[in-house]
Amino acid sequence: MKPVMLVVDDDPQVLAAVRRDLRPRYREQYTVLSAGSGPDALSTARELKSRGESLAILISDQRMPGMLGHEVLARSRELYPLARRVLLTAYSDIDAAVKAINEAHIDHYLSKPWDPPDERLFPIVDDLLDSWQAEYLPEAKGLRLVGYQWSPRSHAIKDFLGSSLIPYRWLDVQREPGTTALIEAAGVGVDELPVLFFEDGSVLREPDSRRVAERLGRSLSVAHDLYDLAIVGGGPAGLAAAVYGASEGLRTLLLDRHAPGGQAGTSSRIENYLGFPAGVSGSDLTRRALAQAQRLGAECLSPLEVTAVAIDGIYKRLTLADGRELVTRTMLAATGMMYREHPAPGIAEHTGAGVYYGAATTEAPAFAGRRVLVIGGGNSAGQAALHLARYAEQVQIVVRRVDLRQTMSQYLIDQIAKTPNIRLRTSTEIDRVDGNGHLEHVALRSVDDGRTQVEDIDALFVFIGARPRSDWLPPDVLRDAKGFVLTGRDAMSAEGFARVWKERRDPLTLETSVPGLFAAGDIRASAMNRVAAAVGEGAMVVRLAHEYIALT
Ligand SMILES: Cc1cc2nc3c(=O)[nH]c(=O)nc-3n(C[C@H](O)[C@H](O)[C@H](O)COP(=O)(O)OP(=O)(O)OC[C@H]3O[C@@H](n4cnc5c(N)ncnc54)[C@H](O)[C@@H]3O)c2cc1C
Repeated sequence: MKPVMLVVDDDPQVLAAVRRDLRPRYREQYTVLSAGSGPDALSTARELKSRGESLAILISDQRMPGMLGHEVLARSRELYPLARRVLLTAYSDIDAAVKAINEAHIDHYLSKPWDPPDERLFPIVDDLLDSWQAEYLPEAKGLRLVGYQWSPRSHAIKDFLGSSLIPYRWLDVQREPGTTALIEAAGVGVDELPVLFFEDGSVLREPDSRRVAERLGRSLSVAHDLYDLAIVGGGPAGLAAAVYGASEGLRTLLLDRHAPGGQAGTSSRIENYLGFPAGVSGSDLTRRALAQAQRLGAECLSPLEVTAVAIDGIYKRLTLADGRELVTRTMLAATGMMYREHPAPGIAEHTGAGVYYGAATTEAPAFAGRRVLVIGGGNSAGQAALHLARYAEQVQIVVRRVDLRQTMSQYLIDQIAKTPNIRLRTSTEIDRVDGNGHLEHVALRSVDDGRTQVEDIDALFVFIGARPRSDWLPPDVLRDAKGFVLTGRDAMSAEGFARVWKERRDPLTLETSVPGLFAAGDIRASAMNRVAAAVGEGAMVVRLAHEYIALT
């Protein structure tokens, strides 16, 4: 059964034009269907769903009698949340497009007419179908992961597969019918879970991320003895440096301990990155950036953790967690930040079993119809709450402050206010959590009067305070009191600078107190904590690396 492309327009001429353009190009892989009104389109989508068919893309005109396009697209989300949604508008109808972005979370808006289609229609549709394909997994095909929802090991491997953009199907052994028979048939004991089933029927018991990567044929060996630029960390800063490094002639290697994407990769929707008016999911942005870096010649390897760096004259020797060593002329530390552990009693024992750091996109579907808490008042917490609200019965955002105004962007505050199943609990903190094998109860304490209230909660997502991942860097890389790396002028004014810096020149803008070792993105002291800022800095480092190489 081919996935379906569905086009909706009340104007028969436009409909004919769309069909005329789309069918010849896509009919080998997709079935192109059309509908003459919003209600017709929704009933077609319901029929497809009842037959177990897949909808890849829904393209709807905005101005239609009875039901407007953005409403059709919004309502289709309940049936096909993964389908890509495109609004057809008149060139001047920006208001309708903005409304559709906000209310229907469309992926693109397309102005009519789209001639020539080679330039104005196909590249957009191809791109949307590619991103849909990256998430879509046909029934009973591909990777299946079987385990217990409350097992930290299952969570870790789900997180790795999701972050690595490897589509898989999650089967909770306690909830999914037929799963016990599946593992019994494969001779897998319940004490060996989680287990991964590959398409060819082979299994991997209690997998870890490295074994999964190797089993999927990902190379973890480095191709060269010496690199011009080694990038540690594959978040937006690292990926940007990889794209520019490779395109500007540097022999470039990028390493990530987990998977490329970093914090941004865990975002369900980045709405403020330039050039994406409808927002872009972190996984989509990562997929594009990684493909771009690799196409331009950067070597990108994960999961590979760098544990230490030794300075050897003008060279830097990086030690990997598996004991291997590699040498580079310049190096970029782009290892970003991670959430700080929450100190409340019970949190540590339940981490991975109902308590999650970030990870809202990985775990959201597992909490459909349940009650969840999000701790934190930043943009990442706001995005997570909105994403979780699409699945959970109720989402509570818990913050110690009296409101979100100082910590969250207004567009998120507005969206949260309009989402009926999100409740904001201000002046509140987590007192303790408990449960039997997994999180069941959370005691919330009022900051004002100290009173506590215990609630039944199925999952708690922590998005509080972040600390830099800088402890793997050598001591000569000067940091501020919190561990953020100092660069350029900030490094020069730090105590100890004269002791470590022996060059006749000043450090370059993003250079640390070790010559040729740069830092970019969230790991840097006074970072902007934005995707765009990290990308900009990553790109800048390439120019500075060239300068350093020319000096040595
Ligand atoms: C949920 C969420 C939503 C967000 N939404 C937005 C938004 O809408 N707009 C916006 O502008 N910003 C947003 N941000 C902030 C933005 O994502 C960060 O500012 C950005 O990701 C920082 O990029 P970075 O490259 O510096 O580091 P990171 O993204 O933190 O990436 C660091 C990478 O380094 C790797 N790493 C760490 N240690 C090692 C090691 N020793 N060896 C190898 N690899 C290592 C990690 O695995 C990670 O992949 C959001 C953040 C979160 C968490």
